[in-house]
Amino acid sequence: MFNVHEVPTISYKLLDTNPSWWRRRTTLERTLTLISIVALIAVAALVIALVSVVLSDKHHEVLELPGTAEALGAPPATHIISKHPDIETNEVTSKKDDICLTSECVHTASNVLEALDTSVEPCDDFYNFACGSFLKNTNIPDEKTQVNTFSVIGDKLQIQLKQLITEEPSETVAKPFKLANKLYKACMNKTLIEQKGTQPIVEIAEKLGGWPVIKGDAWDENSWTWQDSVKNFRKYGFSMDYILDFSVGIDLKNSTRRVIDLDQAAIGVSREYLVKGLEDKIVRAYYDYMVDMAVLFGAERTRAVNELRESLQFEIDLANISLPNEKRRNSSALYNPMTIADIQTKYPYVSWLNYINALLPEGLDVDENEIVIVSVPTFFEALGDLIKRTPKRAIANYVMWRIHGFSAFFLTEELRKRQLQYSTVLSGRQEQEPRWKECVDITSGSLPIAVGALYVRKHFQEDDKSKALEMVNGIREEFEKILKEVSWMDEKTREAALNKLHRMTTHIGYPDEIMKDSKLEEYYKDLDIDPDNYLPSILKMSVFGTNYSFNKLRKPFNKTDWLNHAKPAVVNAYYSSIENSIQFPAGILQEKFFSADRPKYMNYGAIGYVIGHEITHGFDDQGRQFDSDGNLVDWWQENTKKAYLEKARCIIEQYGNYTEVLTGLKLNGINTQGENIADNGGIKESYLAYKKWAEKNGPEPRLPGLPYSPQQMFWISAAQTWCSVYRAETLKMRITTGVHSPAEFRVLGPISNMRDFSKDFNCPEGTRMNPIKKCEVW
Ligand SMILES: [Zn+2]
Repeated sequence: MFNVHEVPTISYKLLDTNPSWWRRRTTLERTLTLISIVALIAVAALVIALVSVVLSDKHHEVLELPGTAEALGAPPATHIISKHPDIETNEVTSKKDDICLTSECVHTASNVLEALDTSVEPCDDFYNFACGSFLKNTNIPDEKTQVNTFSVIGDKLQIQLKQLITEEPSETVAKPFKLANKLYKACMNKTLIEQKGTQPIVEIAEKLGGWPVIKGDAWDENSWTWQDSVKNFRKYGFSMDYILDFSVGIDLKNSTRRVIDLDQAAIGVSREYLVKGLEDKIVRAYYDYMVDMAVLFGAERTRAVNELRESLQFEIDLANISLPNEKRRNSSALYNPMTIADIQTKYPYVSWLNYINALLPEGLDVDENEIVIVSVPTFFEALGDLIKRTPKRAIANYVMWRIHGFSAFFLTEELRKRQLQYSTVLSGRQEQEPRWKECVDITSGSLPIAVGALYVRKHFQEDDKSKALEMVNGIREEFEKILKEVSWMDEKTREAALNKLHRMTTHIGYPDEIMKDSKLEEYYKDLDIDPDNYLPSILKMSVFGTNYSFNKLRKPFNKTDWLNHAKPAVVNAYYSSIENSIQFPAGILQEKFFSADRPKYMNYGAIGYVIGHEITHGFDDQGRQFDSDGNLVDWWQENTKKAYLEKARCIIEQYGNYTEVLTGLKLNGINTQGENIADNGGIKESYLAYKKWAEKNGPEPRLPGLPYSPQQMFWISAAQTWCSVYRAETLKMRITTGVHSPAEFRVLGPISNMRDFSKDFNCPEGTRMNPIKKCEVW
C-alpha cells in the first residue's frame, strides 16, 4: 500500500514500519536484519516482515503487522443498498430520506461516528475532524507502539491465525502446515528455551573463535579474519551483511535476469542516528545495550565498556562511509556494473572470487568475468582503509555482537528483558507482546506461504476478488485519463507512460497455486523444523531462504511467478517496479478498507485510495525510472522530465515544511516524496473513479446519523483509514528514518491539494485545507 521497496526500487509498500534501509536489504539480509531488528525493537510487525523475507523472493516487504481482520465472510448485509437512478445533475447526491439501514451500514456508521469530532471545522483541520474522537479516546497498550486501522486488523488476524496454526495437524496434513505448527511450538516452549539458556549461540560462537570481549586474552587474533567470519555466518544462518551487503538480486536494466549485488553494510542502528555518535541518545542507548548484553553473555564489564566502545566506533565509521537515504533514490546512480576482475583491481582488500564463491551455494560458481552490480562505489573505496586502520579485535567484537544481539530474541527472558529496555528507548513500547502473539507473528512471518494458505482457505471470500478488480479497473481508467490530459507531457513520453500503465499487472487476494498442497510441498521440501530447538530452527529457515534465493542466480526472473505474490495474510499493498505490478493481498481486503455490503463511497475512500496509491507508485520519482517491462530505462524526454521534477519539487517543499507537533520534528520532504506523490495521485484517482461509478449507477444512500453527501463521505472514509495514535519515540523514528509521512500528513497533504475536496466541503480559499498554493504531480 503505501510502503516499501526492494533494491533501489523494486517494490513499495503502503505502510511502513521499516526504516528505509530496509529497502535495500536482500532477502536473506532482510531476513536477518529484520530478525535482529525485531530482536531490538521487538516489533512483531518487523518480525513478521523478516520471516517472510527469509523465505521468499526479495521484493516485497512487509510494512505493518501482517494481519487480517475478520474474514470478509462476516454475515452478509440483509439488504442490498438501493440504487436511485434519479440524478439531476452530474453531482453525486443523495436524498435526505434515503438512508441505508442494513446491519453493515449501521455498523459502518457507528465506526465512522466513533472516530469523528464534529467540533473541529473540516476546512481548518480535516484530520482532526475525521479522527479527533479516535485520537482522544485511544490508549496505546503497553506492548504496542501505535494503534491504527492496520494494527486493529492485525490484531484480529493474529487471533484467526493462532487458531489455524495451533490446530493439531493430522498425519495426512501436508508438510508445510506441520512446519508451521512445529515452529509455533518451538517458540512457545519457554521452559525448554530457558533450560538451554545461552548454549545454542555459545556453541556456534565457539566454533567461530568466540566473541573476543568474552574470551578475553584467550581470543586468537591470528586465526581470525573477517572474511572467514562472514563465510561462517552464511553457513550457520546469520546475516552476511554486517560489513558489506551481498545479495542475489534482479538486474535492473535487464529485469528477466538476476545478478549479484554488492552494497553498503547493514548496520545495527539507522545511519541517521549512528552518524551523530555517542552524543545521540539512541546511539548511547545502543552502546549501553551492547555492553549489558555482552555482560549477560559472560563478559567482564570493564572490558566490555572499553572494547565495545571501539567496535561501536567501527560501526559508526561504516555509517559514515555509507550513502544517506536521500542519495539512494536515483537507481541509475546505484547501478554500477563491474566484473569481478574489475572490483579485484579497485578494491583489492578482499579476495573477491573466493569470497563470492564461498557465499554462493554448492554447485554454483562464478569466475572473474562475472558481472556484479556495485551500488555504492564510494563505500567500497573507503572500506579498505577503514578495515586496515581498525584493529581486528574491534571488527571481531562488532560482528560477534551482531550475531549475539540477533540471537538473543530467541533465547532467555533475561536477555529479552534487556532487549525490551533498549526497544523502549527506540519505540516507546513498555512491554513485550503476549508470547502467543509473538509466536504467531514469527510463524506467519517465517512461513508466510504456508500460513497464508491456511488463512485464505478458511477466511477469504472468492467474490471479493472480482469486486476489488472492478475497483482497480475503474481507478486505472482515471489515471489513464490524467495521463492523456496533463499539459506538461510531450506526446512521446505520454505514449510511453500510457504503455506502462496498460502493461501494469494486478494481483488480488492470493495466487491460485496456494490452494494446491503439492505446490506448497514442493516449495518447502528442503526445510525441516525441530520443535525442541528454537534458535537453530530460525537459523535453519534462514539458510533455507538464502539458498533458495542464491540458487536462482542463473535462473530467469519470472514476473508472474506465484511465489512472488503468495503472502496473503498481510495487511498491506505493494507496487513492484521490477514486475510493473500492483498487489493487494487478502489481508487488506476487509474491515475498514473494504466491504462488499456498504456504500461504495466508503470503499473508494479506503481501499480505493490504496489502489490509486499503488498505481501511482509506477510514476513517482523512483517508479518513473523504470519502463513498462520493469527495466531501468530513461523513457522521459528532457523537457517533460524537467516539468516533472518541478512538480515533485513542490511536493518536497510542501511536506518538508510540515512540523509534527508531538516531536517538534520537520518531515523529510525528499525521503517521503515517492509516498507523498503516490498518496496525492491515489486519492484523486479514487475520487474520480467513485464519481464515475456514481454517475453510472446512481446516487447512494446516506449512512444513519451521518448528514454528509456521498462525496463528503468519500473524504471522511479516506481520512479515517489513517486515524493513528503513535508513541512519541515511534513517531520520531518514523520521521527520522521512514519513507512514509506520519498518518496525519497522509491526510492533510493530499486533501489540501485537492480542489474537489474544497468544493465538497465549501472551504473558502485561504483556509488551511484550501491553500492558494497547491501541488499536483498527477
Ligand atoms: Zn507506497
